Amino acid sequence: MAKQIKVSLIGNPNTGKTSVFNLLTGLNQQVGNYPGITVEKKEGICKLPRGVKAHILDLPGTYSLNASSLDENVVIEILLNKKDKDFPDVAVVVSDVENLKRNLLLFTQIKDLEIPTILVINMADRMRSSGISLDIPLLEKELNTKIALISARKNQGIDELKKLIVAYGSLSTKPCVNALTFAPEYFNRLQKAFPKQSLYKLWLVITQDVNFRKVDKKKSSITPDFEIKSESELKRFQQKETIKRYQFINGVLKKGLIIDEKAATGMRARLDRVLTHKFWGYFIFFAILLFIFQAIYDWSSYPMDLIDEGFAWLSEVTKSGLPSGPFVDLITEGIIPGLGGIVIFIPQIAFLFLFISILEESGYMSRVVFLMDRVMRRFGLSGKSVVPLVSGTACAIPAVMATRNIENWKERLITILVVPFTTCSARLPVYLIIISLVIPNEKVGWIFSYQSLTLMLLYFLGFGTAVGSAWILNKILKIKSKTYFVIEMPGYKLPLLKNVVINVIEKTKAFVLGAGKIILAISIVLWVLASFGPNDKFSNAAQIVTEKYTNLSGEELDQKIASHKLEYSFIGYAGKAIEPIVAPLGYDWKIGIGIISSFAAREVFVGTLATIYSVGSDEEETIKNRMKAEVNTVTGGPLFNLASGISLLLFYAFAMQCMSTLAIVKRETNSWKWPMAQLIFMSGLAYGIALIVYQVLK
Ligand code: GDP
Ligand code: MG
Repeated sequence: MAKQIKVSLIGNPNTGKTSVFNLLTGLNQQVGNYPGITVEKKEGICKLPRGVKAHILDLPGTYSLNASSLDENVVIEILLNKKDKDFPDVAVVVSDVENLKRNLLLFTQIKDLEIPTILVINMADRMRSSGISLDIPLLEKELNTKIALISARKNQGIDELKKLIVAYGSLSTKPCVNALTFAPEYFNRLQKAFPKQSLYKLWLVITQDVNFRKVDKKKSSITPDFEIKSESELKRFQQKETIKRYQFINGVLKKGLIIDEKAATGMRARLDRVLTHKFWGYFIFFAILLFIFQAIYDWSSYPMDLIDEGFAWLSEVTKSGLPSGPFVDLITEGIIPGLGGIVIFIPQIAFLFLFISILEESGYMSRVVFLMDRVMRRFGLSGKSVVPLVSGTACAIPAVMATRNIENWKERLITILVVPFTTCSARLPVYLIIISLVIPNEKVGWIFSYQSLTLMLLYFLGFGTAVGSAWILNKILKIKSKTYFVIEMPGYKLPLLKNVVINVIEKTKAFVLGAGKIILAISIVLWVLASFGPNDKFSNAAQIVTEKYTNLSGEELDQKIASHKLEYSFIGYAGKAIEPIVAPLGYDWKIGIGIISSFAAREVFVGTLATIYSVGSDEEETIKNRMKAEVNTVTGGPLFNLASGISLLLFYAFAMQCMSTLAIVKRETNSWKWPMAQLIFMSGLAYGIALIVYQVLK
């Protein structure tokens, strides 16, 4: 019996591997499992020209050779091990013509393994409707391979593929790009230590350890106990490798792939033309944003009122149900209002994440990236900066991490530096409470209200400041780096409910737990500081006030006593100490306390005010009503008026009040220089602008 050619079908999920497999093998296939694991294994026999037969293996879908799942690991175990009975004579990499860029990443990695490789470009039937044309000879030359352009759905091009498989002996086994050029010293030493092994295989085994800790080193006959680098450094190397590959792929596709947008006729292409239109694209994006912000307001007001009243009720019940004493006071005046100040924002944050994940899941966000690229380029950013900037509306931390997709270092650094200006969810609670206090709740025109418009303006302000600073940074920073940009447009699809729900729950949970811990701790500290004082002005408060206001009694007297106590408590003295600094901005010492305590994390502000205003108050009353009743002792008017409110809003819009963001920026830029610059610049800007605005408006 003649020897069978061993063929492995490899590719990203959903590129049509199984469809190609079915066409090649027909009914001659069997399904089993890989030994010892539950990953499905499909193999079959294919009859080729001249009586030759091939054994075809349909490998699990994988995005790259840096495996992160059991399925992906199967592929690497086989490809790294020449003695494996499934080790292929020829690797057939199946790709989807509409997602070539991403698909080619895996292809260039397989090429590096020096296995004869054929590139199948599938879904050729989609080329016309999406206006794609390919220069196959050029791609073959650049990628150092043979290409079969096929449509598994229409059964076109399969014979061509079969011919290429028969002639696998003449395929080149040379890599098409040298991606490991970024740390020559490290890789030279690695190669010297294991001179018989191919460098890329060595690297894969090492990274496999980092990614998965699964590869069977004895089987692959490589044991790189060789100088261990730290995991984070290896991860960085891996990112650099990926970036090199994408740079190469972008260069190749620029020459070999042309998208004629006018020729595109399909439904998707028609949608694309509207959504990325020079005028309508922006118009639609703007309209969607407007709708989202209005919806956040309208839809969450009911659950928010419920939560607000619920916590007030809980405090009341706890107080009347338990014997009175300092511990119960701590719970009812410190912890419950502090936590209530966070829980109340869950509805709004959940709605925001709901909309963002729907936009992402549906494929629309990629169109926004494309659309915005035209604009962002002018400011030294890339279209890809839009994703971090939009994620920044959730939290700057994942946003800074999301900049890793940006290949160009200068664009990436600028994006990292300006992301904290976008309105993160921690600012939302502060904005919402202040807006509800100082902006009239009236409708303008049809569905919009002054309050929701103010909120939207604040979001635009954050975004605008980010983009403006990027423009300045682009002029100032002298960093040379090259730009590549190939946009990958996934198809439109209905968002999967499951994905959206999981995303919303995870992001909300992260916010509540992350913020919750700090807030709980700070509410306890604050309560203690507010419930004790350094001298007898605090301990004799009742006596002093009663003597002073002989005409008052009952409730009114109690309130006077409570505010006298707060003023002479520890926290009162601390707030007074910074009052001269914040008074020109229109704030009193109570807001000063809020600002001090929120330097670690902005969202603490609301919880702090809630705690401060609850101390000593017996009534079942909402935080908002208490704040509304505050009086500015200098002017005699309400403390939260238009001037001080807007000054406070702007202070929070610009100030860098988030230790976690500073920490992540330090990690991503590998130096304290950048986070410190952010801290100083942003805080200075915040103070300056809040000062000017208050002085002008008051
Ligand atoms: P696998 O995940 O790589 O095994 O991909 P499948 O073979 O399961 O195919 C994924 C999807 O792409 C299925 O819905 C197929 O019907 C579709 N598909 C496969 N080949 C083609 C093709 O040539 N043209 C089009 N339009 N769709 C295809
Ligand atoms: Mg499949």
